[in-house]
Amino acid sequence: MAKLPTRRDLFAFAGASLAMPALLAEQSESSPTAAPELVVFNGRIVTVDPRSPRAEAFAIKNGRFLAVGSNADIRNLIQRGTPTWDAKGAMIVPGFIDTHNHADGATLLYEILVGNPFEVEFVTVDSIIQKLRVRAAQTPPGYWVEGYFFDDTKVKDGRKLNIHDLDQVSKDHPVAVHHRGGHTSFYNSKAFEMADVNRSTPNPPGGTFDKDSTGALNGRVTDRAKDVFYKVGKRQNVTIENSGLNAQADSLQREIAGVAHISKMFVRYGVTSVHHEGGSLAAIQKVRANGDLKHRVSYEAAGKELDAMIAAGLQSGFGDEWLRLGATTEHTVDGSFSERTMALSVNYPGTNYKGNVTTIQDDLNAWVEKIHRAGIQVNCHANGDVAIDMYLSAFERAQQLFPRPDARPKITHCTLINDDLVRRMKALNAVPSLFTTYAYYNSDKFGFYGEELMKRCMAFRTLLDAGIHVAAGSDFSPGPFDPRMAIQGMVTRTGWDGKTWGANQKISLDEAIRVNTLNGAYNSHEEGTKGSITAGKLADYVVLAEDLYSIPVDRIKDAKIIRTVVGGTTVYEG
Ligand SMILES: [Zn+2]
Repeated sequence: MAKLPTRRDLFAFAGASLAMPALLAEQSESSPTAAPELVVFNGRIVTVDPRSPRAEAFAIKNGRFLAVGSNADIRNLIQRGTPTWDAKGAMIVPGFIDTHNHADGATLLYEILVGNPFEVEFVTVDSIIQKLRVRAAQTPPGYWVEGYFFDDTKVKDGRKLNIHDLDQVSKDHPVAVHHRGGHTSFYNSKAFEMADVNRSTPNPPGGTFDKDSTGALNGRVTDRAKDVFYKVGKRQNVTIENSGLNAQADSLQREIAGVAHISKMFVRYGVTSVHHEGGSLAAIQKVRANGDLKHRVSYEAAGKELDAMIAAGLQSGFGDEWLRLGATTEHTVDGSFSERTMALSVNYPGTNYKGNVTTIQDDLNAWVEKIHRAGIQVNCHANGDVAIDMYLSAFERAQQLFPRPDARPKITHCTLINDDLVRRMKALNAVPSLFTTYAYYNSDKFGFYGEELMKRCMAFRTLLDAGIHVAAGSDFSPGPFDPRMAIQGMVTRTGWDGKTWGANQKISLDEAIRVNTLNGAYNSHEEGTKGSITAGKLADYVVLAEDLYSIPVDRIKDAKIIRTVVGGTTVYEG
């Protein structure tokens, strides 16, 4: 164990010089102000700090780790009245970091959920119809009736949801069931009629109106073809407190309740930092002002917020330890892994379909250049090898024209790689955010790709071996965000159905914890302030009832979280 850190040691930890709080700088070991606010001892602490990977105890002051070491070292810091906490041998890890999350708490609170957001659960087509009928009965004609969190491979009926099912919900309302993956939706006849789409409507670039064997619309619509449905019909903003017809005011209320709700959910699962894909900045600030923001936010802007950042000269990194401007939201280059629309260089096995590319190279080049020149961290959604290649080409071009050190282009998903892509990612120091819970949750979909492709999908092993800072991005809603489910999938590559895919991409438990913590911090240039239990860093940590290293690997996802702490404050106790 490390000896008691001296004042010099406290300043010497890797990369944290910029973030050193003033108070720490004023302290010395002998001064009374050095007294910790809390000492935690008897822990099995996995620090994720390579210089000292294991510890027994730490002290906290001003929301940061003051010192980390052995029980004996840290007990020396205790002064009269210093509160202590005996971890009684519990495992303690740094707070988990999710680098890709749509964080849509309002949908969880107010919308019809036709599938389980958090767990593997099978539903029936009839249950979907019944839930939507109830909502239709409360909804004026012409307004959308929508269901969320549908998962096409978690249906007990063992068949595809179709337009006829949704016609049973209503003939007067447009009805949509959205796949949790976000790239495909299913519509009823009324919706197609309002969108003016029929069996002879051609597919737009980057999307499809799917047909049944007779050539009729079957209800499923993919990627860019969904755009026409956003332009028709009206939507209610239902909140608990009202009937939902006063859309403007209700919309912010809804967002505020949603952020507060999902913040509680995050810390329940030990997630202490989340990269938010857009959402209302005003709502996040209001929740923080109310004292209800329990996790730290790296805000990823899109649309008018991103335009405003560029216009105002706001760059990635602006903000503070709780709410900070991060990369952009995912700029979409192709389709979905789970919904089988991502852009492959080969046909999907047994088909002549290669997926959807949802942009063109010239547009992508122009967008990447604009963001990069503005000093904002670029982030593109690229799943298939074709899309990753397009994105890397666009970034290589931008970096050549306007070199910027340490730009860390973020690749959201980065699902199917090959050797050439890995070499180029390493050269750019790209930071991929891979799906995390999919290995466990979506194992029922990997047969659509087959083992040969799965050996190169969610390629944690290959990327770590190449020295790439691969991070965890649950992509909630598409994937559950539970880090325990994520870690189990990373170390086993075995799904809920007992099937194992791409076992060559397994990583160790140490590595999986690092992917879900320190590498997440690196993803947003925050490795100097968080991601490991290191003196000087923010005191964000999770206490687990069981030692993940001594339980069977297929039980990691069930290990109980007994405490989540953010900035030294307990935000969840289980
Ligand atoms: Zn996403």
